[in-house]
Amino acid sequence: MSLPPDFEKFKGEIFSHKQDRNDYYYKSYQYAKSSFRSIKDMNPKYVLYPKATDDDDFDDIYLALNYAKKNKLKIAIRTGGHQYTGASSTDRNNLQLDLADTYKKFEWNDDKTILEIGISYSLDEFARKLKEAGRFLPSGQCEYVGLGGHVQTGGYGQLARGFGLLTDYVTEIRIISYDETEQDYKAKWIKKGDELFRAVIGGSPGNFGIITHVKFMVLKDSDYPNSRGFFAVCKYDPKNFKTFLDIKLETVGEDDFDYCVSVLSDSGIEDEENALDKDPSYDETYNQQRYTNKGNKNVIWPTIIIIHAYHYRNYDEQTSPIKKIKDVTTEWNIVTDTNEHVEVSQLVRNWIMLIRREFQLQYIKRGYVSNWEAGKLIDTEWSAWVTNRINIAICKKLKVSAQFKYFGGEESEFYKKGEENKDTTSLSWRKMNFGITIDIFFEKDNFHLASEWQRENDKCISVINPIFSDEDIHKYKELCELRNKYDPDKIFIPNDFCVGVKYEAPIKVLKDILDKNSEKFEHMLKHEDFDSLEEQIFKLVAENDTLRRENTEVKAENSLPEEFGDDRVEDEWVDEDDDVSLC
Ligand SMILES: Cc1cc2nc3c(=O)[nH]c(=O)nc-3n(C[C@H](O)[C@H](O)[C@H](O)COP(=O)(O)OP(=O)(O)OC[C@H]3O[C@@H](n4cnc5c(N)ncnc54)[C@H](O)[C@@H]3O)c2cc1C
Repeated sequence: MSLPPDFEKFKGEIFSHKQDRNDYYYKSYQYAKSSFRSIKDMNPKYVLYPKATDDDDFDDIYLALNYAKKNKLKIAIRTGGHQYTGASSTDRNNLQLDLADTYKKFEWNDDKTILEIGISYSLDEFARKLKEAGRFLPSGQCEYVGLGGHVQTGGYGQLARGFGLLTDYVTEIRIISYDETEQDYKAKWIKKGDELFRAVIGGSPGNFGIITHVKFMVLKDSDYPNSRGFFAVCKYDPKNFKTFLDIKLETVGEDDFDYCVSVLSDSGIEDEENALDKDPSYDETYNQQRYTNKGNKNVIWPTIIIIHAYHYRNYDEQTSPIKKIKDVTTEWNIVTDTNEHVEVSQLVRNWIMLIRREFQLQYIKRGYVSNWEAGKLIDTEWSAWVTNRINIAICKKLKVSAQFKYFGGEESEFYKKGEENKDTTSLSWRKMNFGITIDIFFEKDNFHLASEWQRENDKCISVINPIFSDEDIHKYKELCELRNKYDPDKIFIPNDFCVGVKYEAPIKVLKDILDKNSEKFEHMLKHEDFDSLEEQIFKLVAENDTLRRENTEVKAENSLPEEFGDDRVEDEWVDEDDDVSLC
């Protein structure tokens, strides 16, 4: 392939949308393409895979930076490609730099408490290598998520109350950004306490420079000889699901206890043979061809509830809330039980799902955080409302992946480390009590149903002040200034998902929106129908009971439930065939 002479000395591979169409198709693919390729261009001019002869070789990256500077282009940085909205991609004018295979250093200090690691690891590889050494760190859930993005924002998971986030354990970062002394973009180590470190951790991934290596302070299994856990799965049943949520609200006072309730719709694949006979979608084709036996083609499951409930320091069978959790049903499929000690590194592995993506479908995702106390959620019948919403989605053949977790409490490491790192990182919402994600995946024909379902959730959940962290506005302004300082050529703002790029609403406008939302919320609480929610949900559960039992064969009803109303907004659907075509 003929490339601009600027890349003559480039040691790695380069894929262009003008040539190598087949390879380019795979190289430009990433998680968000299933849902965002119709509304934004995610077809970079070049996808560059830099190669390094050793972990101190940055020549290929410097060539890419010089080319971008000379031609006034932007660079989107990608490692695992798992950002939900395509923030690690860019349009056809700009470059994408992929570090999935470039830096593989893995080096311990003498007593294996400090790890220096190259950025090119997936979470699966990372957690596996730590476990081999009897070490662990809190991390996220998907085996293919890359350390490159995760190290800046991640580690929200089932270990959060016990140990905080992955970002809490980063001590140094090697990053290529603008260096005032060198008057150029150069690699350097920055430490916790540096202003650039503060911006990079939680500020806005990929907007301050290219991370190549990280140092972590690592935790030891041997420091937790009494850790026990219950990791088990049972078939979805709405009444049981509600009980698991109620137990969550009852146990918020427990210290040394992490408890996450997840619900996952069935895989939608009856058997492997049938699945392969189907006319594969864009995402299925990608998974089959590139990752044979690794996509969820070969993993089949019914609609399930997944429970992670862990103690790290002490476990007492009689007083542990795990007893109550186990008693909810007799039909468990248990992976890890409390009858013996289990290393925390194994509890980390339990959390990591061995599938590339949840469903080979488009999605609308939501994450909500709340600083409400459990009592207020009990008073407002939160668990009944959630069960109702999830049950409707399941009965309507939408695919749900949702997680419900309590992060708060004075003894929670999520909270304590948030306070400790308040001035050294930029992560917000560390005072949250509850964190939930509610993701919906859908077949094309169900787009309106899926979007209405999420809108109804938004109406009920996110009506109160979305900016409860008072420092946010000040923090945001500072991040914009730091971005200009460490990227004066504006190379690392490849899309709208970057700090300081989009028009920001003035504070007055924001405040008006918040006031209106609060009013709406107060009204909702006083609404006369609100009290009868519990009754409504069990009526609905009874109606759908037969359908639920044969979940994989549930037939969608002809009409929408009443709550969706008739005045649905007709969102425009851009057909896959109308997709932005390659030049
Ligand atoms: C199925 C799934 C499950 C998930 N589960 C969890 C979870 O349990 N907990 C959790 O905390 N998060 C979770 N996430 C979110 C995920 O951790 C983040 O989206 C993370 O940023 C992905 O990192 P990546 O390298 O794979 O993504 P990418 O898309 O490659 O990058 C994400 C962001 O980081 C930037 N970036 C990537 N590499 C570099 C680099 N080397 N230098 C500078 N910037 C870089 C990109 O520009 C982009 O803005 C999940 C995501 C998915 C899709």
